[in-house]
Amino acid sequence: MKIGVLGAGQLGRMLAISGYPLNHQFGFSGNSIDEPSALLGHMFALEDNKDNIESLVAFADVITYESENTDIAIIKEISKNVVVYPGEKSLFTTQHRGREKALFDQLNIPCAPYQMVNSEADLKAAVEKISLPAILKTATDGYDGKGQFLMRDESQITEAWQSMNGVESILEGFVNFKRELSLIAVRGIDNDHRYYPLVENTHHNGILRLTIAPAQDIDPVVQTTAEHYMQTLLDEMGHVGVLTIELFETEDGLVVNEMAPRVHNSGHWSIEGANTSQFENHVRAITGMSLGDTTPVHNFSAMVNIIGKTGPTNIVLKMPNAHLHLYDKTERADRKLGHINIMASTQTELDESIEKLKDFLP
Ligand code: AMP
Repeated sequence: MKIGVLGAGQLGRMLAISGYPLNHQFGFSGNSIDEPSALLGHMFALEDNKDNIESLVAFADVITYESENTDIAIIKEISKNVVVYPGEKSLFTTQHRGREKALFDQLNIPCAPYQMVNSEADLKAAVEKISLPAILKTATDGYDGKGQFLMRDESQITEAWQSMNGVESILEGFVNFKRELSLIAVRGIDNDHRYYPLVENTHHNGILRLTIAPAQDIDPVVQTTAEHYMQTLLDEMGHVGVLTIELFETEDGLVVNEMAPRVHNSGHWSIEGANTSQFENHVRAITGMSLGDTTPVHNFSAMVNIIGKTGPTNIVLKMPNAHLHLYDKTERADRKLGHINIMASTQTELDESIEKLKDFLP
């Protein structure tokens, strides 16, 4: 099939790399030949250029997208002529933190207490309801911890609201978590569901730096509970494709933070680490193919992000159990330029391998 991707970044690039062996072709919306997906398929410029949206639609048998920040109006328009997976409900819900939290509430999925905020007065009232510490976040368009303000004291109300630049925001109670986890799953058009194991994520300045897969010492009940939340969400949204949920593990159980209707940075380990990667499974799902087995291939996998500077990649190439993935991007502070996947049989081998890559970690 011909797969049209809205976006042309590293996620599109890795979708294409996994999709060609299945005999699919790819087209991307993007304005520059410098984008990570540019050399992996047809490029269709999109912004302000309706003709080229039409060209992408004419090219594609199915359309998918790289980001939950994709304009819903474009999806509505495109959907008249070609199927879009994940569908409108998944995108509409996940691109707004308030709608996402309302769905968690409706489905009895635990999440942090929250209040929507549209003014400084709203923020003051929300702080009284939720109490501090709390995090103020823009309702839409946030990523990698951007558009967030950690409030510790009521004296910060004016400063916090000003930092939101007047856009609709959400105040969330601060969750005292033990660690951050994520669950990636895929649902096919035929309602088949597959789950990857829970993984453990370490962030620095809001950016994911390290994923350990599977997360260690996970009580099977915790995995089952996370899968139950996931299944409820997949079914409620009629989701087709990969869905990711980010969770906090707390003393009192799991608390869901947010979700993404797409392949996710915390699933990059699955390229060499699982029988079928998240990318291949997303491609299989949206093209109506049977889903692939999600079982990890190795006892331990890890993913180290390459952020800002490409760094000493020769170290990686000399390691027998490491795989280098670069996205053909120029260096810039905080930019995701690539990642390294590590495969290990023992915890010691995993720890030693991560230690060898310490130049890539903050
Ligand atoms: P997010 O953009 O919602 O994924 O937030 C980025 C990071 O901020 C998360 O990975 C957490 O480390 C932290 N964070 C976000 N929301 C909360 C919360 N309600 N309580 C504690 N930490 C949070």
